Amino acid sequence: MTVRVGVVGAAGRMGAEVCRAVAGDDGLELVAAVDAHHAGAAVRDVTGVDSDLVIAADLDALTAADCDVAVEFTGPAAVGANLRWLLGHGIHAVVGATGIADEDLTAARELAASGPANALVAPNFAIGAVLLMQFAAEAAKHLPHVEIIELHHDRKVDAPSGTALRTAELIAQARREVPDAPLGDERHPGARGATHEDVRVHSVRLPGIVANQEVIFGGAGQTLTIRHDSIDRTCFMPGVLLACHGVAELDGLVVGLEHLL
Ligand code: NAP
Repeated sequence: MTVRVGVVGAAGRMGAEVCRAVAGDDGLELVAAVDAHHAGAAVRDVTGVDSDLVIAADLDALTAADCDVAVEFTGPAAVGANLRWLLGHGIHAVVGATGIADEDLTAARELAASGPANALVAPNFAIGAVLLMQFAAEAAKHLPHVEIIELHHDRKVDAPSGTALRTAELIAQARREVPDAPLGDERHPGARGATHEDVRVHSVRLPGIVANQEVIFGGAGQTLTIRHDSIDRTCFMPGVLLACHGVAELDGLVVGLEHLL
């Protein structure tokens, strides 16, 4: 059975890539595109997909098109409300936008548990990044001294990245002790980065970068660096397509692509 897919944030860098990937998958059909800030534009012009769809202003277009699954790639300001709307309207959600607020995630979890629709929320759909997070959790059991450096393009709105926050959470769950880390001097606040779950996270924003992350572990007389580089946004698409096919089989809301691998 063909899965009917709508894309929210369809005119964005990721949304347009998702439109192309969905259109190229025999088991999926692109039936709606929503982008509050680019309504009225032709999907063909924005994404290059051979389609007569027009980008809609609001989410009602998803119900009108009888979507089974919606892929959400807007950003921190809109993703929480959009996710709750999707689950409230019985549409399975594949969420890639990062920066979702804790209270929105909690509300969405309850909606997914009590309603007919599921959600997969993945801070990173690249298989390499998923593996990096798993390897980092494993290493943290043995090397508790660790810091994260994430590097992204300069138009990314949220910092630290969702991947860095998730990596820090997995490290915190896995490591058996939280070592003291030296602080910087008072004249240079921020030099030691942000702290999430007692893990230091440093965010770099520069043009020319897509998305990279390094997790650096230190021990007596040694370091271990695990690094993932997203060279092109196509790296996220196999994970997004897998999620479109698999989200209906999940149990409520889950966080992390690893639940489908
Ligand atoms: P982007 O180019 O800014 O795309 C976001 C799109 O959504 C823009 O067209 C934006 O319009 C639109 N938008 C904003 N608010 C909206 C709303 N309320 N309803 C519908 N559309 C709305 O950003 P991007 O680089 O594609 O990234 C999108 C998100 O994906 C970010 O949160 C990023 O961190 C995340 N991301 C996740 C992964 C992953 O693997 N999970 C990978 C890469 C990126 P305007 O441009 O007019 O604001």
